[in-house]
This record gives sequence, structure tokens and C-alpha cells, in this order.
Amino acid sequence: MVLEAPVVMVGTDALGVERRLRAGELGCPCGGYLRPWGHARARTVRGIGALRPRRARCGACLVTHVLLAVSCLLRRADSVDVIGAALLAKATGAGHRPIAARLERPVSTVRGWLRAFARNAEALRSTFTTLLVRLDPLTGPLPVHASPFADVVEVIGVCDAAARRRLGVLGAVSPWQAASAVTTGRLLAAALATELINTGEPLGAAV
Ligand SMILES: [Zn+2]
Repeated sequence: MVLEAPVVMVGTDALGVERRLRAGELGCPCGGYLRPWGHARARTVRGIGALRPRRARCGACLVTHVLLAVSCLLRRADSVDVIGAALLAKATGAGHRPIAARLERPVSTVRGWLRAFARNAEALRSTFTTLLVRLDPLTGPLPVHASPFADVVEVIGVCDAAARRRLGVLGAVSPWQAASAVTTGRLLAAALATELINTGEPLGAAV
């Protein structure tokens, strides 16, 4: 799947998103408000089903965005929760073949997730560590693992726990969905390091 338009992350409740979009309650990163603007191409996401992402246009900057549910990642055919399960298993020492077998996904697909996450490890660690300090300024140093990969999985988990303590309303959003919201669906994206923009409300889509 190729998304040309910039992405705005939204919750997984499609009816609620549609209602908020029609009511002019969904914000554009520019500060304006989004209005319905057709749909993106339909796609199937394993673990979620058929999706037809909404397009929306901002009345202020006139940019058209694709609304991506936090349960998805950009250009990935599996839900972020399935991918996150693979990342967690890898961080605790499992190899890509057993992970693929357990999740019933192709070995090459799982290897691709793990490599993409490892490539993004430094950018992700920086992003989530910064967010963690904002959420919990008194947080202590995190345990150091044998690999940067495991360090990043740890900080994502700790960050999620801190967000739940601080905001208390993440409710139905899983830790990996929150991570998708923070990275604008780019957890595994090649251009993560340059595209990650530290917005004022990185968890906005998740709450
Ligand atoms: Zn705008």
C-alpha cells in the first residue's frame, strides 16, 4: 500500500471517527479542522479485516490527509498488535523462525519487521525516551539490555505504562497501538528518523 497523502492517526472506532469527522472535531496538524474528502483505496489488514481508510481535507491548509487507525502501521499488511507480538518475542530472545511459526506469518515477513525495527532502534529510543520524560519527569534510568532492540521494546512498554498513569484514558488502546499513534504509523517505516515530528500531542489519536 502506498499512501501519498500525509497521515493523521485516529482511533479504532470507525463509526466514532466518522461522526467526529463530520462534526468537524478532528484536528489537522496545522491546527485547522478536517472535513470528509472521500476514501483511500481499500485494503485488507490481517488481524483486522477489510478497511477503506477515510480521506479528509483541512479547511485551513487545504491539505488532504489519510486517516489511519492506530491498529495499523503504514504500508504493513498486519495489525500493529501482531507485529508488536513479534517484536516483543524477539526482544526476549526468540528467533524469527519460531516467531513466524507461532504467529502463522511468512518467515520473510517477520524477518522484515524485525530488521525494520532494528534499523529504527535509535530514532525510536530517542522519541520514546523524550516522551517518557514528558509523561513522567521523575522516571529513573531504564535497565540496559544486551541489544538496542530490547532496549527500545522496554522503553515503549514503560512509556505506555507512564501514559496510562498520567492520562488514565488509554482504555481500549493497546500498548502497540499507542506506539503506532506516537510514530504516526511509522514504527517500521524507512524514513522514520526524518519523518518523526514531535507534535504537541503525540498520543492524541489514542486518547
Ligand atoms: Zn491543516
